[in-house]
Amino acid sequence: MKPQSLAALCLLLPALALAQMPPAKPPAPDRYTLVQAGSLLAVPGKAPQERVTVIIRNERIAAIESGFATTVAGAPPDATVTVIDLRDRFVLPGLMDAHVHLQGEPSFSRRRVERGDRNPPTGAEGAVNAMIHARRTLNAGFTTVRDVGSNDESVFAARNAINAGRMIGPRILVSGPAISGTAGHADNLPFDEDGDPQARISHGICDGPVACRGVVRYNYKLGADVIKMTPTAGFSDNTGTEPQMFEDEMQAVITTAHMLGLKVAAHAYSPIAIRQAVNAGVDSIEHGFLLDDEGIRMMKAKGTFLVPTLSASYPPPVFRIPDPESVRLRNQYKAFERAYAAGVKIAFGTDAGTFSHGDNAKEFGYMVQFGMQPMDAIRAATVVTADLFGISAEAGTIEPGKLADLIAVQGSPLEDIARLRHVDFIMKSGRVAKQGGQMTEPFSYPAAFLQ
Ligand SMILES: [Zn+2]
Repeated sequence: MKPQSLAALCLLLPALALAQMPPAKPPAPDRYTLVQAGSLLAVPGKAPQERVTVIIRNERIAAIESGFATTVAGAPPDATVTVIDLRDRFVLPGLMDAHVHLQGEPSFSRRRVERGDRNPPTGAEGAVNAMIHARRTLNAGFTTVRDVGSNDESVFAARNAINAGRMIGPRILVSGPAISGTAGHADNLPFDEDGDPQARISHGICDGPVACRGVVRYNYKLGADVIKMTPTAGFSDNTGTEPQMFEDEMQAVITTAHMLGLKVAAHAYSPIAIRQAVNAGVDSIEHGFLLDDEGIRMMKAKGTFLVPTLSASYPPPVFRIPDPESVRLRNQYKAFERAYAAGVKIAFGTDAGTFSHGDNAKEFGYMVQFGMQPMDAIRAATVVTADLFGISAEAGTIEPGKLADLIAVQGSPLEDIARLRHVDFIMKSGRVAKQGGQMTEPFSYPAAFLQ
């Protein structure tokens, strides 16, 4: 065969292969949704607008027009147009919670105790919990959350199912197992497995910088979106609040995560550990109940976020601390109040899982009770947390080009922040998840592979 004809055959073969394939499906017609909003807080921090329409094309916001529109100029003839009447509602961006644990909650732990379960919960139980809790969290108006610490891979499974559109739920950023030293806050490895190197890695346990790098890489391999470490103990484990990780271990965690493009959240109470973590470049301090003035100064200078989790300082009785020590410490140090006054970036985080999932919005009440302006509390749960998550280009405000994550309440939450506990409309990525107070999609298990 002449070289020319060989070349011709090579060109022809892909064409033949294409000819045997079924014809490509025509693209789905555009889907327009017009959300008529009585009041719209498009960009928390700026004044709300009255009587406007948010025009959504497929999953993204296309435009915001004044007045109540019912048609879309220039829409293709085959496009569908749905009008949603929220003319008597206050519309704002979907809420975000930077600190949840979807794998469990007190009612689950209590039921286990009641039935005499002495074994730790299985990953299968964790995955079922994560599905239920994710759905309940979305139902409360939270369209994006960050799960900072689960014992196994169950929350990854829930995240993947939601991302694939197989299950309704919030967008989830997952950390995988939280990282700590042996006997540290996040070490829940049964004693008799302590010598098993693989069990230690998969439980996030590391002693020394080299081991800590390995644990970060293991979580990355699992598919982590963020890394969580616990350089101090906490209220829940009754071991005090002092440092439990060395500075070089924290540095190893942070530099490895940053090299891999992941942010690091540090559960930290003690002022020494907070300063060390901030100095090593941590992205957020979780809880920070004992934050001192020097820590505040450093966080402000470095742009480190505080995730206050005020709800976690009111622990439910399932924890071992019987007295209100956590409340006393919180009220004594007033870290939240002082950080807010100093201008530290404050994201929104609750520690849901230490209380019932779906009650995340109660955190707003504490924030406002302790002196935060309602507008700043809403800004924390939208604009600021989106910034912490690194997704500001995609979410956090209602602006053209962003994913259409919208919620609505009756009356203005700027006048009464508790209204955010009663979200009755939710749209996530342009899909209505709740309308008229009812979730629109029941659990469904599409079996497309059977068709
Ligand atoms: Zn937590």
